[in-house]
Amino acid sequence: MSTPAAAAADAPAVETPVRRGVVALGSNLGDRDELLRDAVAALAATPGVTVTAASSPVSSVAVTLDGPDESKPTYLNAVALVETALDAHELLDVLLAVEHAHGRVRAERWGDRTLDLDLVVLGDLELDTERLTLPHPRAAERAFVLEPWLQVDEEARLGSRGRVADLLAGLPDRTRPVPGATGLLEPARASSAGAAGADDAAAGGAVAGDDVAAAAAGDPAAARAGGAS
Ligand code: AMP
Repeated sequence: MSTPAAAAADAPAVETPVRRGVVALGSNLGDRDELLRDAVAALAATPGVTVTAASSPVSSVAVTLDGPDESKPTYLNAVALVETALDAHELLDVLLAVEHAHGRVRAERWGDRTLDLDLVVLGDLELDTERLTLPHPRAAERAFVLEPWLQVDEEARLGSRGRVADLLAGLPDRTRPVPGATGLLEPARASSAGAAGADDAAAGGAVAGDDVAAAAAGDPAAARAGGAS
């Protein structure tokens, strides 16, 4: 008969399940197309994260706490599908580190931003912690999330809310296509990047690098951009 310690040592290692996640990306400042592409590249370069698909960007009116605001710079939005064995909070830290590496500063809630990354779903996890709610509580009402999500997965489901196609059919608004836009895992066409960035003055931020990898490895300082806005 083995001791408990020996039994623990003999036990097979518990494997963290690989889950499929959906990340929503948005930007309404800087070179938006390039920022979204850099963000997807940074996710793909993160240890433990595989990006399996990415939509092309779509354009949408800025939503503020007071509702849609046509006077604000318009957003480009997109969705990336990922596979990861990171847990939900580790993946959130990665998203915050990518935002931070691209110059995101949290000033005003729902204010203009160079880059916003939201975790829409992670497998069938349902969570409500101080830092993270899954599925994302507002995804079902956002055409700028559901439309690009359907681009890359026409059978997509949003947890218990049902089929993404049905949720989108019930929404009043739609995004606008970006002429010449290409998927974020493909090279940008000159015309698409130009059209997407035409009304922007500010330059984009730096490509995410070591701090993203550090966040994935559990370095809290690397995810200092955190804090709910
Ligand atoms: P915002 O960038 O304004 O969308 O707010 C991001 C903050 O919301 C993060 O710092 C998270 O702690 C919190 N949060 C809660 N649920 C989620 C989620 N599903 N995805 C991303 N951020 C979330």
